[in-house]
Amino acid sequence: MKYVPTIGLEIHAELKTKTKMFCDCLNIPDEIEPNKNVCPICLAEPGTLPVPNKEAIRAMIKIGLSLGGTIAERSKFDRKSYFYPDLPKGYQISQYDMPIVSGGSLKGVQIERVHLEEDTARSTHENGESLVDFNRAGLPLMELVTKPVIKTAEQAYDFARELQLLLRYLNVSDADMEKGQMRVEANISIAPKKLFGNKKLGTKVELKNINSFKAVKAAIENEIERQEALIKGGGKVIQSTRGWDEVAGKSFPQRIKEEANDYRYMPEPDIPPLDLTAKDIFDMDEIRRSIPELPDQKRIRFSEEFGLSGMELEHLITDRDLSGYFEESISELKALIQQDNSIDEESAKKTLYNYLTSDLVGLIKEQGVDVSDLKIKPEDFAELVVLIEKKEVLSRTAKDILIEMFRTGIDPHEIIDHHSLGQAEDGEVQSSIMGAISENPKAVEEYKNGKEAVIKFLVGQSMSKLRGRGNPEQLEQLLKDHLSK
Ligand SMILES: [Zn+2]
Repeated sequence: MKYVPTIGLEIHAELKTKTKMFCDCLNIPDEIEPNKNVCPICLAEPGTLPVPNKEAIRAMIKIGLSLGGTIAERSKFDRKSYFYPDLPKGYQISQYDMPIVSGGSLKGVQIERVHLEEDTARSTHENGESLVDFNRAGLPLMELVTKPVIKTAEQAYDFARELQLLLRYLNVSDADMEKGQMRVEANISIAPKKLFGNKKLGTKVELKNINSFKAVKAAIENEIERQEALIKGGGKVIQSTRGWDEVAGKSFPQRIKEEANDYRYMPEPDIPPLDLTAKDIFDMDEIRRSIPELPDQKRIRFSEEFGLSGMELEHLITDRDLSGYFEESISELKALIQQDNSIDEESAKKTLYNYLTSDLVGLIKEQGVDVSDLKIKPEDFAELVVLIEKKEVLSRTAKDILIEMFRTGIDPHEIIDHHSLGQAEDGEVQSSIMGAISENPKAVEEYKNGKEAVIKFLVGQSMSKLRGRGNPEQLEQLLKDHLSK
């Protein structure tokens, strides 16, 4: 029998507001000093009153609008009871039946809801000691729940990736999974494949502790296989929660699933209901205007304007700053080409793309620099591409020039003048060839005796005399001419 998996995702992401969700403490999720950003409110001392963070609610509206969801006119907060040391109030302030966002979709996956809640403290258990750090307690946390419509681990992975990208474009969360800023949980069930009639879903298992994108795929695939093997072996899937052990590559049972009423949700009496139609606080038009071009819109525009597709396109889309730099450089390049019709535009654009995504990105990664802090101005980068296209510098030299530009921010012409990195003069080329021949009599003899591969060695010798400023094909031809005399 064939089984069909059904997957739903619950994704949490910390919103990067200035302060926490219900108090004025700073929102610094990776603060190293324990319990630095705390106050009576986020430490849950009795008698304190939470005040909702408007910036976090505006961020939620931005997310909701970007997903094409419906923004509630009225919303409220609720208490979700559970007992754990990282939540000393005994409840988490969350949203139960009136989330800020309902519906919407992303990558073809329909969304059930997106609501706002507070993050819990972080607890560590080491050497028989348990420690709790409240820097994270009370950070604004978005929870997005998809409808159970995802069919494969791959699709779940794509969805999570795209959500991360969207949150980053909106600048509402860094959504770094490795740092715990974004956490994915998956509900998975399998049911016999039926063409007609009853399409009841199977018993679902909730998977937690998925801490990387790689784990999203691996954990879901593993769970589908586990359930299939269980059913085929005559067993039954039990509704439960399982944790993913990334090292072992398998899940382990955590607990039998709570029903919603175990959480004893109740309206939060300390926070009045939210009126999201209050234009003076939540100006929808203004929020809508603040939404930038979104990843999918950019994909369409980039493929039309620059003819990019597949991985080439994704490489730029996934890095918003880099794609901005690319666009600026391209427009500078076009301006330069307009003044000089000897340059082939298509070829120059390709060269620009290649130098950007391999050499420049290589330097950025190696030096740990942000694209926004680059010293190379887009017009200078375009200028370098023109020099390469006009063969005024060779690719090896171009790489050196780029490194110098990266380091100093000086324009390529000045670097060439200063370091005489341009193409070598004819006289220099001639003398490099004569030098290579006279200093390597053995190689010359071998070549004359028919060992043609030796010519590459001689090219290398003259190239090094030219400090890399020669053209290898030209050098090879000149050497051959000389030696055939
Ligand atoms: Zn606080």
